[in-house]
Amino acid sequence: MAELTQKATVLSVTDLTPHVRQVVVLPHMQKILFWPGQWVSLKLPVGLNPPLNRAYSMAAPGTTSGELILVLDRVTGGLGSGFLFQLKPGDDVLLSGPYGNFILSEPVKEQELLLVARYTGLIPIRCILKQLYAQRQTGAVLLIAVAPAEDELLFHRELLTLAVTNPGFRYLPLVAADGEQQAVDLVLSMLRPLIDNGPKVLPMLCGTKAFVRPLRAYFVNAGYDRKEVKTETYD
Ligand SMILES: Cc1cc2nc3c(=O)[nH]c(=O)nc-3n(C[C@H](O)[C@H](O)[C@H](O)COP(=O)(O)OP(=O)(O)OC[C@H]3O[C@@H](n4cnc5c(N)ncnc54)[C@H](O)[C@@H]3O)c2cc1C
Repeated sequence: MAELTQKATVLSVTDLTPHVRQVVVLPHMQKILFWPGQWVSLKLPVGLNPPLNRAYSMAAPGTTSGELILVLDRVTGGLGSGFLFQLKPGDDVLLSGPYGNFILSEPVKEQELLLVARYTGLIPIRCILKQLYAQRQTGAVLLIAVAPAEDELLFHRELLTLAVTNPGFRYLPLVAADGEQQAVDLVLSMLRPLIDNGPKVLPMLCGTKAFVRPLRAYFVNAGYDRKEVKTETYD
């Protein structure tokens, strides 16, 4: 069955970093019940053939009041993100959902959960982490988050606090100012000692294709089945 398309009102707009904005929206007709890691499709009144459909992941688990927390960066020359950056509280957008399979289907117990994100690829992973630690997750989790600049590290303080307060959670923030290839190289230099000699982990990778695909290929070459490597690509 097709998901309902409904209006949602913008409740608040907050800049998180110089290039990343949080937009909180409240759907009008029906609460959207979702799994952390899922996304909604926004139908935007722009482009040659509107609506322009653009996907945005929920940045935090659902609440009883039903608002959705979306976080996005302004892509250079991007039609959809350019439109969304003009929204102000009280404006309406059209959306449908939830969609997507980038979710944790089993509780994390024996295997370490290895989360790897580049820039806004952290959004669904942050949602998953919030849910895990709200449920008092005790297994081992390693998050590698790569940003294009130090002041673009998303949720940095929150993640540092999570690492201090949860012994099983390790947070490795990295900065790669020279694009995806540098980000991939940095992540691989961190991963090789862990993966080549250690027990199997549960990998979840999110970012652009240029970031996610080489990392998935690395895991497959290391003996992982493709299905064991969960991925979400943003472009
Ligand atoms: C499942 C899913 C979930 C997503 N969740 C989020 C989210 O939570 N937050 C978020 O900010 N974005 C998210 N995205 C990306 C988002 O849907 C848009 O693609 C992004 O905002 C760019 O759209 P645009 O219309 O502004 O750019 P476009 O006009 O589509 O593209 C402009 C140029 O930028 C390139 N480009 C497109 N997307 C990206 C990107 N993500 N990063 C870098 N370059 C890009 C294009 O190749 C093109 O050259 C998600 C995408 C998917 C598929």
